[in-house]
Order: sequence, then C-alpha cells, then structure tokens
Amino acid sequence: MISVQLSERVKNLPPYLFAAIDKMKQEAIKKGVDLIDLSIGDPDIPTLKHIVAAMKKAVENPAHHRYPSYEGMLSYREAVARWYKKRFNVKLNPETEVLSLIGSKEGIGHIPLAFVNPGDIVLVPSPGYPVYPVGTLFAGGKSYIMPLTEENDFLPDLDEIPKSILRKAKLMFINYPNNPTSATAPAEFYKEVIRLAQKYNIIVCHDAAYSEIYYDDEKPISFLELKGAKDVGIEMHSLSKTYNMTGWRIGFAVGNKDILAGLGKIKTNLDSGVFQAVQEASIVALNTDDSILSDIRSTYQKRRDALYNGLRKLGLHLIKPKATFYLWAKVPSGFDSSSFVAHLLDKTGILITPGNGFGAIGEGYVRFALTVPVKRIKEAVERIKNSLLSL
Ligand SMILES: *Cc1c(COP(=O)(O)O)cnc(C)c1O
Repeated sequence: MISVQLSERVKNLPPYLFAAIDKMKQEAIKKGVDLIDLSIGDPDIPTLKHIVAAMKKAVENPAHHRYPSYEGMLSYREAVARWYKKRFNVKLNPETEVLSLIGSKEGIGHIPLAFVNPGDIVLVPSPGYPVYPVGTLFAGGKSYIMPLTEENDFLPDLDEIPKSILRKAKLMFINYPNNPTSATAPAEFYKEVIRLAQKYNIIVCHDAAYSEIYYDDEKPISFLELKGAKDVGIEMHSLSKTYNMTGWRIGFAVGNKDILAGLGKIKTNLDSGVFQAVQEASIVALNTDDSILSDIRSTYQKRRDALYNGLRKLGLHLIKPKATFYLWAKVPSGFDSSSFVAHLLDKTGILITPGNGFGAIGEGYVRFALTVPVKRIKEAVERIKNSLLSL
C-alpha cells in the first residue's frame, strides 16, 4: 500500500463550509422532514422542449460522434455572435472573438492557468462564486479580496485597492448580475474597471452567467458594450441558467482575441471541446424566441415577489433582487450565517445557504434560491414566520 499524499494545492483548498449543513440535510431527510430546499443554484424548470428535440436529432448524426474542434463549431460561434449582436448590439468576429466552453465554470477555473504566474495577484470579489479564488490557487496565484458591501451596492470599491496590489495584479474577476447578492452593475462601474485595467495592465474576466435572469424588464448590460472593454477583457456566459441547461455543460467566452487565444492554449492541452450534438442543440437554444424567455423570467419574478414580500413582512432585512434567482438577506440579530441556517433547518425544514460559504465577507448573510414553485415559497414563508414567533 502506498501512502496517498495530496498536493499542497489541494491541501490549501478552503474548508468546505457546507459539510455540516449537508450532514444536517441528510439527517432531516432520514427523519422524514418535508424539506423545502432553497439552497440550490440550479433551475427546477426542465430544458425547453425544442432544445431537447434538436439534441435528439443531432445525436443521430455520426459526424457528431467524433472529437469536436477545440474552439467550438464555427456554426455555434456564429450563433453566439448573432445572439450578442441582437441582445447587446456588440459585434464579435466568430472566428477569433468567440470560444466555446464546457460550461462557464470550466473557463473560470482555467483562465488563471493561462495568465497567472506563481505569486501574481488576482482580484476576486467576495462574497462570490468560489471558483474565482480556487482557480487562482490552482495556478499558484494569490487572491486579493474585493469586498462587496451593501453600502456600496455590492460593487467593489476600486479606489480602495492599494497601488502595490494593482501593480502585481494580472487578472480581475467581476460578476454581474451577481451571485450571491443579486446586484447588477451600472455602465459607470464598468467604465471605471476599464480605466483601471488599462492603467495597470490587468485582464478583466466578467462572469455574466445571469445576464438573462432579470426583473421588472430592467435588462442588464454587457461589459463589452463599453468603449475599450474589448481591449482589456472577456465576458463569460453560460447556457445553464438562461435555458435551464445546467446538466448539458456548455457556455462561451467572448471578447479580446489574445485573451481568448491564451485560454484556448490551456484548453487544447486539457480538454477536447464540447460534444457537437450539444453545440447543435445550443444553436437552437440561442435562437429561442424572446417570448419564451419572458415566460421563464415571469415565473422567477412571481417567486421573487412571493419570497421578498413575505419575508419583508416578517421584518427581515433583505436586498431586493434586481436579477438572478437568488435573494440575499441579513440574518436576524442573535445569529451568524451558520447558526441561522441550522436554526431554520431544525425548526422549519427549510434549507438555505450560509453567506460565509461565499467568502468571509458574506458572514452575517444568507442566500435563498428561487428554484422551487410559488406554492412552496409561500409555505416556506409561513414556516419561517412561526419559527421567528417562537424565538
Ligand atoms: C452557475 C454559475 C456559473 C457556471 O455555470 P456553468 O453551468 O458552469 O456554465 C458561473 N458563474 C456563476 C456566478 C454561477 O452562479
């Protein structure tokens, strides 16, 4: 028997904060609790039928059974470029400014390997998607945390970042609409990011996974709509959240061609692209009629309204979501993130995500996901009401 030793990079992974909660969840299920799981960042609505139909047809074609091209089929990249033009009025060259991804998580995890040397700094928002700091760690880089606070509308305060850090920074992650805070970013913010990136030669990677899940018809903008954005950065997108395709594993990166070529170098050496049948179905997905996406948005909006209005009456301090299918809330006094999550699960059978799981700055907050029907959300609000009354 050999002694199996993990690498330093694996040993250095942040502690898995959800382990205790996973255990509580399993125990609740075993006890037969009628669990309302509001912790899942995965749409409960199935993939749209016309996309499934396109997949069924594409899978029959033997041409798709072979290795795909690394950068994605040209027809898929052209569909992405058309979607960008229509949605954001941004022009992209499908040959050089579009790259397929095996889900945007893959691109986010890999991009530091292309540009970050050991000891280099990566600017990372917190609370935030855990893949930004983990991808940085795997590349030997150091994360510099940009706090997202309620006082600053969950935008990083770029003036607060020391010059010595900016000089060593190679890459900056930003993410709007934001998971977990549900905030969106104004054009002004992106302009500041572009100015900073130009001044200090920092690559910007904007994660726009939730660009199509928004409320009150307030469409989030693309980072690439702004002048100079393509000189400094790329934007990553996912079909996962927009078209309920989390299991299919497809996304794309668009923008600066040299940055995409660098990411492509990592990918050609590590993966072999996206199954072409999935790309064919995704072309159909990207051509989906707007009215269908409006219906999905209105489903989420009804859920958001039920949860936001319901919890507000209970006196909880909430951030009203402008986009995404999450609601970010402060824990009531007397609790921290973990103890409130444990209290709710124990007293009500409702599972939510502790904010500190998204980084230390998320302590004191929790995230509710809108991935269950309105009826269950109303039931959840009722149960929370009773549990708070009995405090
Ligand atoms: C869900 C999510 C992603 C990744 O989605 P993929 O399924 O890998 O495309 C990326 N960023 C954020 C913030 C997410 O919440």
